[in-house]
Amino acid sequence: MTPRTAIGIDIGGTHLRAARVSRDGAIQQHAKAPSAADAASVLDRIARLIEQVDDASVAGIGIGIPGRVDFASRRVLSGGYVDLSKVNLADEIEQRFRRPVTVDNDCSMALVAECAVGAAAGARNVVMLTIGTGIGGAIMEGGHIVRARGTAGQLGHVPVDPRGLPCVCGRRGCVETVSSGTALGRHIADGGFPIGTTAAELLSLRERCDDAARRVLHAWAAPLRVAIDGLVAALDPEVVVLGGGLGRAAFEALAGVETAPSWYESRVVPAALGDEAGAIGAALASLPGPARIKRLVIVNGVPASGKSGVAHALSRETGWPVLSLDTVKNPFLEEIEGVDRPFNRKLGRASMRAMFALVKEAPAGTTAIMDAWFGFQPRDWIEALIADAGVDALTEIWCSAPPEVIGRRYGERAALRLPGHPGADYVPELVELADRARPLGFGRYFEIDTTRSLEVADLRGRLEAAFRSAS
Ligand SMILES: [Zn+2]
Repeated sequence: MTPRTAIGIDIGGTHLRAARVSRDGAIQQHAKAPSAADAASVLDRIARLIEQVDDASVAGIGIGIPGRVDFASRRVLSGGYVDLSKVNLADEIEQRFRRPVTVDNDCSMALVAECAVGAAAGARNVVMLTIGTGIGGAIMEGGHIVRARGTAGQLGHVPVDPRGLPCVCGRRGCVETVSSGTALGRHIADGGFPIGTTAAELLSLRERCDDAARRVLHAWAAPLRVAIDGLVAALDPEVVVLGGGLGRAAFEALAGVETAPSWYESRVVPAALGDEAGAIGAALASLPGPARIKRLVIVNGVPASGKSGVAHALSRETGWPVLSLDTVKNPFLEEIEGVDRPFNRKLGRASMRAMFALVKEAPAGTTAIMDAWFGFQPRDWIEALIADAGVDALTEIWCSAPPEVIGRRYGERAALRLPGHPGADYVPELVELADRARPLGFGRYFEIDTTRSLEVADLRGRLEAAFRSAS
């Protein structure tokens, strides 16, 4: 599990940005060049930027593109300020740098970054609008970018006024026609302010109760509010992120738009990563994701520490299968007569090997939960099993409870245990064991006190974040 990095490229109207980014979203090196209007120059400059930040740790290259992108085929369908629909950008870069290349809409890339390390960190259901010259958008549901037939998330073209202005997309009254940066310029002129008046100036005038500034900001932000409310009713996101050059100004302008309480409410926040979001997200999107790696959650703890409850709650929340040592071992205890404690230990060891063999045979993209007490086995033996199973990312949940609680639980269930398991006379030994037992600590571990109610969605979020930085 060597630390891998990726290069993210963001193609902007004024700048092309490149960054080498670690798995946890930190920029290690970056480079910048002026943008260009023709595709050949852009391609050439991107290649030079990649050379500047490339090194042996780079596992992939991601490119955020203004305009509509078909993610699966890596085709650019239409251009923004630079039209890349006529060049085979992904193939060209892939052949030249011999790394897998991922291309996506620039706003989807920014959303990936904001969800990983920005304003929506930890959230899995997020809507993002980027307010700049136009309005871009992206939607994340359950941790995945929503693509539908290929180009879902073009939120600038959410209609807000059927009698509105004509839009580049062919329709009328899209939110982009009234709430983009371009539209703000028009509202400013209509409001009698000089050309070049900025959103910041208008916001500061509104602070001082300037009615004309308030009206301009209202004309700009009220249709955005309508679009956001529609998106919230449709998608019920945890948070709506406003990014792009005017994201924060739009967020502040929204404070002047009255809105009635509704069944449908989501938090609206400004983006946190600024100009870097696109490059960070492009890099993260190009690293092998959960679909291409094998992940393992070890649920560890002494007998009666509450492992099974935690493992099964996590499985219900995530859909990840549970491999439980008892599930493998118990049929043998039922079929084989006269199992004593040493033989029970042998069965435990064989069962653990069986569980890791199943993980080894599982395809890439599998996340498995393994429920067992690992403390009976030598650490280097377990480490070898993990390595042999081809696990790319590992996390551990350490189940704990006060030793006397563990002793009481075991005592209460002793009569129900199959022959071969020690009985109630094991309680004092277990209490002593619970007192000194420790997690394996091979990867990140999270301690869960099983006497408290389990916040399983929160646990899932923490595991996903740990997996991202572990693989
Ligand atoms: Zn439109």
